[in-house]
Amino acid sequence: MIKNKTSNRKKVVVIFFACLVLFLILIGRLVYLMVVQSDHYSQMAQDLHERERSIKAARGRILDANGTVIADNKTVCTISVIHNQIKEPDRIVEVLSRELDLSEEYVRKRVEKYSSIERIKSNVDKEKGDAIRAYNLEGVKVDEDYKRYYPYDSLASKVLGFTGGDNQGIIGLEVKYEEYLKGQEGTILTITDARGVEIDAAGEQRIDPVPGNDLYISLDMNIQSYATQLARQVMETKQAERVSILVMNPQNGEIMAMADVPEFDLNHPYDLPEDASTQNLTEEKKQELLNQMWRNGCISDTYEPGSTFKIITAAAGLEGGVVTTQDQFSCPGYIMVEDRRIRCHKTTGHGAENFIQATMNSCNPVFM
Ligand SMILES: [Zn+2]
Repeated sequence: MIKNKTSNRKKVVVIFFACLVLFLILIGRLVYLMVVQSDHYSQMAQDLHERERSIKAARGRILDANGTVIADNKTVCTISVIHNQIKEPDRIVEVLSRELDLSEEYVRKRVEKYSSIERIKSNVDKEKGDAIRAYNLEGVKVDEDYKRYYPYDSLASKVLGFTGGDNQGIIGLEVKYEEYLKGQEGTILTITDARGVEIDAAGEQRIDPVPGNDLYISLDMNIQSYATQLARQVMETKQAERVSILVMNPQNGEIMAMADVPEFDLNHPYDLPEDASTQNLTEEKKQELLNQMWRNGCISDTYEPGSTFKIITAAAGLEGGVVTTQDQFSCPGYIMVEDRRIRCHKTTGHGAENFIQATMNSCNPVFM
């Protein structure tokens, strides 16, 4: 009997210690999860409960010397779906593929994908976005943002440049002044429960976007328009491949016009000219042609000054007193400089001429 009692007491002690050890392990684990891993798990919970959508910032506009807006923004929509809120997937696939001109498989893949938010299409016209909103489909979000718009289409295209899908500058002033123009994106934060359903009471938290700065340039679109017309005329009559015209204010060096025809349509910068777009081009070749089309010859190419430099030679000669307007010259059509025979553009020679006539004739030997 006594022996039995002792063994019972022993059992109780063993069980007590076993429980204590287990309890300590659990407490240890709890401390580990709550203290050491706390950041990790609260981040995971946050990811699950918060749904973030970005709001594009309005990009700064570009204005010419007269304050005319030459690069603007127009409101477009981004259409997304939220998997957990979808109630009629088939109807959504049907409506979105029809309204957005997308294949049903493409839309279905996105509608059925298990993710917190899935973008279907961006840069959708505002009217189209409003139309989709009017269907009142649960789980379909229509967010408004901005798209770059150029009211003058191709005018000064190579100077202004254009922006890509995420509204970032690609070429020209758009990329040069990117950091001033781009602004700061905002976010819409929505709190959801574990199943991804939005909690109305928690509401939406908004961080408003900061619009970009406007850019004021010295270009005058009136002068630009005349310069472009003139360059087109010259290209036509001379059968040239390209013609460039630069108009500068000599008082301060401001550029008032910079035309480099053929220009391209800033609202469709990836459309090649017709003769090129009809061919079957490789991606590489297409990119090469696009780069060529976007290239601003006025600043990217070098060009020998040629006869335009004679103005400086003449002015220096007159000012230095080495020549007067009435000095007589004779042009035989060429002149020997060291071991080189350099021709006049009139190979038969201008004959006898004074300095004024030589300047009018743009006679090479006289200026040499
Ligand atoms: Zn000559």
